Amino acid sequence: MSTAPDRLAEVQARIAAAAREARREPASVHLVAVSKTFGAEEILPVLEAGQHVFGENRVQEAHGKWPALRERFPDLELHLIGPLQSNKAREAVALFDAFHAIDRPKIAEAIAGEMARQNKAMKLFIQVNTGEEPQKAGVLPKEAEALVRLCREQLKLPVCGLMCIPPVDDEAALHFAFLAKLAREFDLPELSMGMSADFETAIALGATYVRVGSQIFGHRG
Ligand SMILES: *Cc1c(COP(=O)(O)O)cnc(C)c1O
Repeated sequence: MSTAPDRLAEVQARIAAAAREARREPASVHLVAVSKTFGAEEILPVLEAGQHVFGENRVQEAHGKWPALRERFPDLELHLIGPLQSNKAREAVALFDAFHAIDRPKIAEAIAGEMARQNKAMKLFIQVNTGEEPQKAGVLPKEAEALVRLCREQLKLPVCGLMCIPPVDDEAALHFAFLAKLAREFDLPELSMGMSADFETAIALGATYVRVGSQIFGHRG
């Protein structure tokens, strides 16, 4: 059976190959290893293999496992990839280095307030609900421009890109291409898109951050 470090190396090689295929620099694609539901004992070998960027989708869960790991690996980068409730903004800004799911004015305001209060820099993405699915987080495409403007102009938030999670039954490439087009329109350089099943497609369409979980850590229980 393969180990998580073996699978990490395989994912890294596939990312580099997909980047070259798209005539892009492999270093222009950042791997976020999604460790949600896995414990420190499963994360540690991946850290020791040199992966230092990780994604979690719940503040509470991340709070339980990452502060101790960060003491041992001070240069690690922790990304919050799931939606946030505004009453968790303080804890999220304290714990995470990046947030991929700004999806409404209230969250943008809470993050801006906490970043100022804690004097903390964060990498920020706006999540777009490209499939307009009622149960999914993300701003609707037609409301995205107003949210980008609010972040930039009123809140002075350093938003660097857009994020999406395509509907499970749709062709992912259509959503990735649409997100890339929106990002160009808004003049945002980063694209957080692509997961275990479709990260190579996302890289072909311009992803700069891919969020890969099960392909590295195995299936979530
Ligand atoms: C869980 C999760 C991922 C990783 O999904 P895999 O299919 O396991 O690679 C990526 N992005 C978000 C937002 C997630 O919640």
